[in-house]
Amino acid sequence: MSDREHETYDVVGIGFGPSNLSLAIALEESRANGPEKEIDGLFFERQPRFGWHRNMLLPSATMQISFLKDLVTFRNPTSRFSFISYLHASGRLPQFVNNQDFFPTRQEFHQYLEWAQSQVADRISYGSEVLSVRLPEGTLPEQSDTLLLDVADASGQGRRTVETRNVVISTGLVPSMPEGTERDERVWHSSEFLARYRRTNPAELRRVAVVGAGQSAAEIARFLYDELPHAQVYAVIPSYGYAVADDTPYANQIFDPAAVDDYYFGTEQTREAFWRYHRNTNYSVVDDEVIRDLYRRTYADEVQDVQRLHFLNLTRVTGVKRAGTETRVTLQVGPDSEVRELDFDVLVCATGYKSMEPTELLGDLDRHCLRDESGRYRVERDYRIVTAPEMRCGIYLQGGTEHTHGLTSSLLSNLAIRSGEIAESIVTRRAEQRLLRRPC
Ligand SMILES: Cc1cc2nc3c(=O)[nH]c(=O)nc-3n(C[C@H](O)[C@H](O)[C@H](O)COP(=O)(O)OP(=O)(O)OC[C@H]3O[C@@H](n4cnc5c(N)ncnc54)[C@H](O)[C@@H]3O)c2cc1C
Repeated sequence: MSDREHETYDVVGIGFGPSNLSLAIALEESRANGPEKEIDGLFFERQPRFGWHRNMLLPSATMQISFLKDLVTFRNPTSRFSFISYLHASGRLPQFVNNQDFFPTRQEFHQYLEWAQSQVADRISYGSEVLSVRLPEGTLPEQSDTLLLDVADASGQGRRTVETRNVVISTGLVPSMPEGTERDERVWHSSEFLARYRRTNPAELRRVAVVGAGQSAAEIARFLYDELPHAQVYAVIPSYGYAVADDTPYANQIFDPAAVDDYYFGTEQTREAFWRYHRNTNYSVVDDEVIRDLYRRTYADEVQDVQRLHFLNLTRVTGVKRAGTETRVTLQVGPDSEVRELDFDVLVCATGYKSMEPTELLGDLDRHCLRDESGRYRVERDYRIVTAPEMRCGIYLQGGTEHTHGLTSSLLSNLAIRSGEIAESIVTRRAEQRLLRRPC
């Protein structure tokens, strides 16, 4: 990364997952359209290197979207940053086509993302955690064209401050645990799964439980069943069985770019209908292939008259106690909510995530950000938080806009279009501000 902290950037991105990677590419491509479209950007990422949900890169896990919904193709089908360009560069394009599969493994998609980020590496500062976004000392929003970001070196060694006209917050989803359950060395959240698993001696894992009814839960149950042939694997699910993710063509339209407008400009009633009818495209559901894969294992065990995969249906975790090296989990099991205590060597909570929450980062600046009657940020169509009119800087969100922009907010489906819209908005607003400043 270039050392230009003294400069004022047009935009600084907080977090460098796929969303801001897609934006970095959109800025790069915008630059090719002439100097007036050139945006000077810098991105901070707290991880020491690029990583997209590394702890869930399970060997057989596949993408839940088509490879064509990559970082760029929906915005610019001829982009050199596409998944197809990556396949071409890595010499695998013919083999990929022969494979006739729209859904690459997550490991391959991760390789694509790493390849893409390496081409914009001069704009990324890894090992850098943004602590706060604020106005310059002693200024009011109407007096400042810039915001300051305080950034800590992840090693805890030093801090720096950078200045920017716009900020794009893309810090990702926040892991969620069952109520009253704390993480420790035997109670894991799925977001830390592989790192924790690799630090554990598999021989010690004889009874493991996976809590949750979504894709990650099913994938981890399958992984543990396969990796630990000596172990009993318990799937603790609040439903009566894994429910299938609706991936059929009409339902998939919910992820089309046009659906964002339908959601954004729709009434409260239509927005509610989006969630009511189409939640099962993504939330607490599992890919058909993974469900069948698991069921095949259960059935094969039945034929052998053994049972290794146990389903605790209609079951909730209500508490966890540590007992020596074991973890005693209190459960409310089955239709009668019978209370049972079971001991496990490890409890994996694949209990999902909360929406991105930038309030803490914004600190005092947050009072200039307007909220709706439910206390959620009001967000413009261009993903900018609606601020008090005197605020001249833009605070954009990539994520955390489910209530305004719909189901794709925390997903990859619309990244290419969204990042293009944000880049365009930054260019347009800068041009407008320059016009306003020009002497009459
Ligand atoms: C296991 C898993 C699989 C998924 N698979 C799919 C899929 O197949 N298709 C799909 O559409 N969606 C999928 N999703 C949804 C997921 O949200 C998106 O894939 C994607 O991660 C969103 O990208 P993002 O950049 O917005 O957030 P993230 O990928 O979460 O990136 C946010 C980044 O911000 C960094 N960060 C946070 N705070 C700071 C800070 N203060 N300073 C600096 N850096 C910070 C984090 O370290 C992180 O790298 C999946 C989610 C999970 C958990």
